[in-house]
Amino acid sequence: MPTEVLTEKNAYEAALENFDMAADEMDLEPDIRSMIKYPERILTVNLPVRMDNGHIERFEGYRVQHNTARGPAKGGIRYHPNVTLDEVKALATWMTWKCSVVNIPFGGGKGGVTCNPKALSIHEIERITRRYAASILPFIGPAKDIPAPDVYTNPQIMAWIMDTYSMMKGYPVLGVVTGKPVSLGGSLGRNEATGRGVYYTIESTCEHLKIPLKGARVAVQGFGNAGTVAAHLLDSNQGRVIAVNDSRGAVYNSNGLDIPKLMLHKDQTGSVVGYPGSESIRPDDLLTMPCDILIPAALENAIHEDNASRIKAKIIAEAANGPVTPAADRTLESNGIFLIPDILCNAGGVTVSYFEWVQDEQHLFWDAQDVYNRLQRVMKTAFNEVLKVHLDRRVPMRTAANIVGINRVTEATRLRGLYP
Ligand code: NAD
Repeated sequence: MPTEVLTEKNAYEAALENFDMAADEMDLEPDIRSMIKYPERILTVNLPVRMDNGHIERFEGYRVQHNTARGPAKGGIRYHPNVTLDEVKALATWMTWKCSVVNIPFGGGKGGVTCNPKALSIHEIERITRRYAASILPFIGPAKDIPAPDVYTNPQIMAWIMDTYSMMKGYPVLGVVTGKPVSLGGSLGRNEATGRGVYYTIESTCEHLKIPLKGARVAVQGFGNAGTVAAHLLDSNQGRVIAVNDSRGAVYNSNGLDIPKLMLHKDQTGSVVGYPGSESIRPDDLLTMPCDILIPAALENAIHEDNASRIKAKIIAEAANGPVTPAADRTLESNGIFLIPDILCNAGGVTVSYFEWVQDEQHLFWDAQDVYNRLQRVMKTAFNEVLKVHLDRRVPMRTAANIVGINRVTEATRLRGLYP
């Protein structure tokens, strides 16, 4: 776990603070603020599940719909021992601004179950998933709220949610979740979409800052879905990935790690630790080592008040959601570090989720190159819009991204008016 810094704000408080900073900069009037700042709906579910040993264990799950002004709620489901309602509220809030930044017709939602998937059998995970899906079922659907994978959830888990939902409806409903296996209405390119989007935003940043990608030293915290794909693309495009870690430890090679071989090693052993041709380093040192591009791709609050001043990267690309606390933001900003904020940087995942939902709804599927081309267009357009606000208003990139996101939600809210 990234060290939770107790003296700092939790993720939800951070999300609210970031909203206020952008809303102040926009002079957003109090009525609209109160309409769009807080979650629309919050659901907590009690999940009794039979374990393999015959006993019943109780888990708690959440689904939060933050805002649906621009379309159905959209957001992943996280399985992790540290999942809390506040964390899910924060992640749902960020999803609203994220979908808006990349201008896809969704609002923000998020879900989670407090559990440790590493200590559960596959059958226990399936039973938790089906019970959770059944419990949130009245609130989700292709026109209402569309879950997707997040930390420690995957296409198989999405397939079980789709099946549970479809069994209850009596007919197959592909568009109820995204991130499904391709053979079940998933989109080509969804698995690597987040990392690919991260890569596109890094490419645009390097162009803007005139930093050559060739030979750029990269450190990646978190070698999961998002981190691995971003590292692989940077490696294939002549970046030099010098350090990588996962929850078990960190590896380093100043000449650059061979990412395909490291991926194979992780597949075979379950971790990057012990990869031949690397030396082991302390995970905390990965964040503060000299490098050009730092990619936090694990969990929230990795970069905080206590380590922010020691960060030497020129660019931070937030593949993870909320990896930098508000206090750390201020330090990074004053040290001139260019930040690609999460709601822009990792929006490739939800963008291809949107493509998947569109394909499911029209029963017409695209080839991978089509998906990549569309994704690249969306990411580059969003990056340029955010960069323009950053330069025109002289505000940090995070505030700029929030302004772009909040603006579209505000416009939709004004047009819809207040019910009743
Ligand atoms: P994942 O489960 O595939 O990978 C998470 C990785 O982080 C694992 O390798 C794990 O070992 C590692 N990790 C956990 N704790 C760590 C620690 N303290 N230090 C270093 N590594 C640690 O998850 P993911 O889907 O890649 O998600 C990672 C982040 O990206 C999350 O913040 C998630 O919300 C965000 N994100 C993911 C997607 C997506 O489509 N997968 C989309 C948007 C945002």
